[in-house]
Amino acid sequence: MENHPFKYDIDFIEPGVVHFEDNIDSSFYLIEGRDKALLIDTGCGGGNVHRLASAFTEKPIELAVTHAHGDHDAHAGEFTVAYMHPADIAQLEEMNRRFGVPEEQQLHADLFTPVSGGDVIELGDCPVRVLEMAGHTPGSVLFVDEGHKVVFTGDAVGSGVGVWMQLANCCCISQYRHNLLELLEQLAPYRDYLYLGGHYRQAGDPASPSFNPVTPRMIEDLVVVCDELLAGKARSEEYAPAGRFGEEVTYIAYHGTAALVYLPSYVK
Ligand SMILES: [Zn+2]
Ligand SMILES: [Zn+2]
Repeated sequence: MENHPFKYDIDFIEPGVVHFEDNIDSSFYLIEGRDKALLIDTGCGGGNVHRLASAFTEKPIELAVTHAHGDHDAHAGEFTVAYMHPADIAQLEEMNRRFGVPEEQQLHADLFTPVSGGDVIELGDCPVRVLEMAGHTPGSVLFVDEGHKVVFTGDAVGSGVGVWMQLANCCCISQYRHNLLELLEQLAPYRDYLYLGGHYRQAGDPASPSFNPVTPRMIEDLVVVCDELLAGKARSEEYAPAGRFGEEVTYIAYHGTAALVYLPSYVK
C-alpha cells in the first residue's frame, strides 16, 4: 500500500463490521449496535479517525483500545468515551516519554475508562465482552463481539505473523504460556467466531496458500511454541540484530500456524 498518512483502506467484513487499515498496516474496526457504535483501536494514520468512522454510522461512537501502543491508540483523544485496561492506562506516561510523543499528541490516564476481564461494553443489542491476555503489554485485552460473532485480538497473539514478545514490557515466556491457557478456556464458547487481528493484512492474502489468520488453533500452536522454547527445543531463527530491541539478538520461534518473537532472556 502506498505509504501516504491520509490514505486508509476500508473493507466491509460483514454487515455492521467495517475494517480500516492505515498506511503502516495498523488495523482498526467499527462495529455497530442498536444504540451505539464501537471503534476497536484507532491506528496511527493522518487526519481525524473519529470523523472517518462517523461516515460509516449514525450512532455515537465509543472507543475500545486493545493495548497502549501508538499504532492502536494514537487517535484516542478524539473520543469522549474510551476504554482501556488499567494495566495499560498505567503505561501511558512511559509511552509518552519513551517514544518522545509531542505534548499535544500525548495520551493521559484521565481520558480512559478502565475495563478488565469480564466487563461488558453494551451497544444495545450487541454485548462486547472483555477478555484479558497480558503478555505483549501488561494490559492487553481481546474484545468479543457477541452480536456479530467476532473476536478482536489486537496484538495479544499476533496477527497471522509472530506475536511480538521482545518489547520492554512483555512478560516472560512461562507467564505468557499460562495466560494463553487461561485465554483458550475463555474462548471455548467462541471457537467458531471470526478472529480479527490488530494488523489484519499481515495474515496474508486470503487467496494465497500462506494465508494465516488468527484462529483458536493458532493460539493453541502458540502454547506449543512456548513449551518448546522452555524445553530448549524450539525451531527458531534470528529476527533482528542486537541493538534493535535492547542489547540482545532477537529471535523468532515457530510451530504449526504460530510464531513468537522473543529475547533469549525472556525464556524462563
Ligand atoms: Zn500493533
Ligand atoms: Zn502492540
